[in-house]
Amino acid sequence: MIPPEISDMADDAARAQALEAWLVAEAARRPPLPPPRPREERPEDPPLFARLDAGAGPIALPGPGPCRRCGEALERVGICPRCAAAMLAAEVEASLRPARESVPPEYRWALTPDAPELAERCRRVRSELGEHSAASFARKAALRLCLPPSEDRSLLVLVIGGQTEENSRHGKSVLAARIAHEILAAGAASGLVGEPPVETRMLGIARRTRWVSALELSERAVSTERSSYERAMEASILVLDDLGQEGRETYAGKERAALAGKLLMMRWPLGRPTILPTYLGPAGIADVYLGGVHGRLFDDARATRVEVSRG
Ligand SMILES: [Zn+2]
Repeated sequence: MIPPEISDMADDAARAQALEAWLVAEAARRPPLPPPRPREERPEDPPLFARLDAGAGPIALPGPGPCRRCGEALERVGICPRCAAAMLAAEVEASLRPARESVPPEYRWALTPDAPELAERCRRVRSELGEHSAASFARKAALRLCLPPSEDRSLLVLVIGGQTEENSRHGKSVLAARIAHEILAAGAASGLVGEPPVETRMLGIARRTRWVSALELSERAVSTERSSYERAMEASILVLDDLGQEGRETYAGKERAALAGKLLMMRWPLGRPTILPTYLGPAGIADVYLGGVHGRLFDDARATRVEVSRG
């Protein structure tokens, strides 16, 4: 530390001179460094591999032992192929959980492979793609929705309606859930190909598939979560359920309906497909949403209208 009688000196030149003298005196008080050892006196560096061998010894290959998960005897201790496949499947499944859990609990049964109630809840499906069972339509529609948007056979919007509100109340959302199931299943299957697992295009689409109800649309974020509008906008494939039930007699309902229309118009040019379970027909849509929405849903070849019925 510089002594205060030097650092407090008022005259700059005098202070600089005193400081230099002090530094020289300080340096003289330190013991001198040992002189550097001449290079030729150092023992010769052993070659790299010899040093590694001396330090670590030979690398031990694992010997026979049990699979670390199931205990099956293996030629080399580690994880057996069956357990490795199960771990990969669990990892892929976990990556799909947010998509799966966005589907409301009352429709999640449709996300199981056999979904026994499907044929009963949603017996006939008619559309420009022909007449199908719900299971077969959902498979076809899922694949079409996942095609790159430049392909002219892809679907950007799937409007699922019923002949009457009563008739289709549950069937249309059930069919939407079944299409979501097919998207998730195709994504999971594609994610299980290859080792290590690769984020395939299908798996990416499946992971970012989301179900959002038009009744919960809002641009306001709740704490750290993104707003429902943002989540809906970012979805690779969006199920926008409850379209037409926003409650337009209230201000909040009008706002939700405006957001639903905005979502459709914003997602369209980005090529992000949307599935719309709604009981509103063309006249209802024209009545509620801005003109552009009706045109997208009913006058564009990239939208397909679907009718479901129980009978
Ligand atoms: Zn195992």
